[in-house]
Amino acid sequence: MQKVEHIGIAVKSLSYSVPLFEQLLNTNCYKTESVESEKVNTAFFRQGETKIELLESSDPEGVIARFIEKKGEGMHHIAFEVADIEAEMDRLKNEGFTLLSEKPKRGADNKMICFLHPKTTNGILIELCQEITT
Ligand code: ZN
Repeated sequence: MQKVEHIGIAVKSLSYSVPLFEQLLNTNCYKTESVESEKVNTAFFRQGETKIELLESSDPEGVIARFIEKKGEGMHHIAFEVADIEAEMDRLKNEGFTLLSEKPKRGADNKMICFLHPKTTNGILIELCQEITT
């Protein structure tokens, strides 16, 4: 795994949290994007080498809505950049970690992504991400 690519934070409302994080980080949100398959609206901030990804549920039954119901707003996942996501998924599976999908999925911000089940990672949801190069 390479650097921490971004940290995902679950929020109830982007219209409230985007200006809040703009003030907090003293930088403008540079991108918003909806990911239909994951039922999320996302907003991105760049802070040095790392990004902050705010996640708002676009559906009351979505994973982010359910996360906030259970745990409240706050840190949702840490995403590590990898050079070869399929190789990294194989390596982690062989090490005994549980992956949440068999194949990489299309995520926000032009990435192929895969999550590891938090039950095998000390309760932290870990995302692997690889930039899509075309
Ligand atoms: Zn993410």
